[in-house]
Amino acid sequence: MSTTPAALHVPELADEPGLVHGFSTVALGSVGLKHAADPDAALAARRAFAGVLGLDSAELTTMGSVHGASVARVDKPGGSVDDVDALLTNRPGVALFATYADCYPIVLWDPELKVAGLVHAGWRGTRAGVATAAVRHMQDEYGSRRIKAGIGPGICGRCYEVGEEVASQFDGRFVAQQNGRLMLDLATANRAQLEDMGASVFDIGICTKEHYLFPSHRRHPDGTRFGAIVALR
Ligand SMILES: [Zn+2]
Repeated sequence: MSTTPAALHVPELADEPGLVHGFSTVALGSVGLKHAADPDAALAARRAFAGVLGLDSAELTTMGSVHGASVARVDKPGGSVDDVDALLTNRPGVALFATYADCYPIVLWDPELKVAGLVHAGWRGTRAGVATAAVRHMQDEYGSRRIKAGIGPGICGRCYEVGEEVASQFDGRFVAQQNGRLMLDLATANRAQLEDMGASVFDIGICTKEHYLFPSHRRHPDGTRFGAIVALR
């Protein structure tokens, strides 16, 4: 038995009654199908990941991320929702799932009304305001007033070099100059969106490019992906 953890959690959201969430590590292997040499292994890794979170019989609802700001509500288990970068549910038995390799997973949780969400935020989605859109949807469609947000593992502001054409699309607060290079801080940009919408924000504080537990497209672009699951218990 390996001592490498199979999944990590945002500590402040790990003990929320009614909420299940986690991020799969390299211990489970890649959960990405798109570039998978062995799709069966990726599907087995997804099942193992769900099992680690105590969702053995769960049928995952997969997000078909497109780097936009569209939000979908999920009312029944299983299937995939294409063309969105945020999924929300208030139904126990629904398990939201998406894959990542440097983009940020964001977990959303309304502890009063028991509404949960999962966001996929790379630079395009962040620029498009996907975190803002997801929180607004919780407020408008579910009536959420108190929302907790957990920022999962992603590429940090010291590691994420971007070109001028990308940097220029962000507020200067989120771009730093390092020896003539432009570094984009997506975690801080998403934190700002979430806080502007009134959410309490917690950050796992793990950089995928720096941490061996998570695959990073920038460190090793081989199609390996980690997964995030958000579900109601
Ligand atoms: Zn980093």
